[in-house]
Amino acid sequence: MGSAQANGRVAARQPDDPLPLLHPVPHGDGDTEKIAAIRHHFARIMEVLGLDLTDESLRETPQRVAKMFVNEVFSGLDDRNFPSITTFPNTYGYGEMLVERNISLHTFCEHHFLPIIGKVHVAYFPGEKVIGLSKLNHIVKHFARRPQVQERLTVQIAEGLQRVLGTEDVAVYVEADHLCVAARGVEDTKSSTVTNYYGGKFREPPERRGFLEAVGQS
Ligand SMILES: [Zn+2]
Repeated sequence: MGSAQANGRVAARQPDDPLPLLHPVPHGDGDTEKIAAIRHHFARIMEVLGLDLTDESLRETPQRVAKMFVNEVFSGLDDRNFPSITTFPNTYGYGEMLVERNISLHTFCEHHFLPIIGKVHVAYFPGEKVIGLSKLNHIVKHFARRPQVQERLTVQIAEGLQRVLGTEDVAVYVEADHLCVAARGVEDTKSSTVTNYYGGKFREPPERRGFLEAVGQS
């Protein structure tokens, strides 16, 4: 018994056996270990579904999914992957609202692991510091690369921006389609979900209105 486990292979299971839920997988929290563990467990899921893992087309799927989870779509679970952000002193004295519109959003619903696809508008009033515009996109992408619910994603983007920019004056507007609503369950392909966050000056009606007008939502 021990030998089959020791070399990482799983012994053939008899039909009446309860599903073995725990398999030996490498310990540790390094990316290599995570990929190996996910590959192992995802292969089991595919087997349970009756998929033939010897099939040419499916053989590499567990490894492909594991690498995609760890290195791409869920890389934002690791805080070390937060984008490096250089801030610049606001030497030009720009004090009006800066709006970045239509930032692409791709994330995954944490309840069904199905895609959430949409767009994000963010805005801030520069204080002492400003950042490169593309960094706004990178911050959105970082928090999107986690299993998410849209409400929490919205708050995380806002708080991430506030931290980096050193100001409370941040607004975030998220509009997204949830495939778990469109492709299953109620199968509603028309509805979308809107969430928003208003910090600091954006709590005042005129500033909030200015933001919503700028992003075409007034
Ligand atoms: Zn869902």
